Amino acid sequence: MLGTLLIVSGPSGCGKTTLCRRAEADGLTAYSISCTTREPRPGEQDGVDYHFLSQADFAAKVAAGEFLEHATVHGNSYGTLRSHIVELLEAGKNVVMDIDVQGAASIRACDDPVIRRAFADVYIYLPSAQLEARLRGRKTDDEATIRLRLHNAAQEDARMGEYAFVLESGDREHDYAHFTALLRALSMRRQLR
Ligand code: 5GP
Repeated sequence: MLGTLLIVSGPSGCGKTTLCRRAEADGLTAYSISCTTREPRPGEQDGVDYHFLSQADFAAKVAAGEFLEHATVHGNSYGTLRSHIVELLEAGKNVVMDIDVQGAASIRACDDPVIRRAFADVYIYLPSAQLEARLRGRKTDDEATIRLRLHNAAQEDARMGEYAFVLESGDREHDYAHFTALLRALSMRRQLR
């Protein structure tokens, strides 16, 4: 039985990373570790949070066609290795991918048969006033970065209609209950047999 590939998007600060990490900690999914050219934030570890690559190493993987998708977000490159995802799915593991709307669109258009069968997508929606409060609360970004992220959030929300599922964010427990219910329902799809 094939695992489910659940693409999770939503503006930075909406809580999607927390949802994905918690589902992984509870043994429901494997987390897809992306590659990025951005600098690690305090506490982030190479090979755990991301594979932190130089621009040159990233470009070499693009040229070799190793990425299932890659995109530039907030001025940095991000990408997901195809081989990593297909191996997990074929081993029957659910995979959640925390990626932006551009990355989601390119995976949705992917012609790999394993990816197409396993695919599902959800958008985590949070009204902008609440998003701003959360971004300020986590105190990891400066004012210019917060402004940029709010601007990007409005652009991402405009593409919510591309997703089969929308999870309107409430509190942490509400969000997690809905997220895990979705994962369970998706794992019952006949196409995975
Ligand atoms: P952050 O730098 O805050 O960890 O992530 C910034 C943005 O990059 C988030 O919206 C996140 O979803 C997105 N992102 C993380 N990994 C990938 C990836 O592999 N591909 C794409 N397209 N976006 C990603």
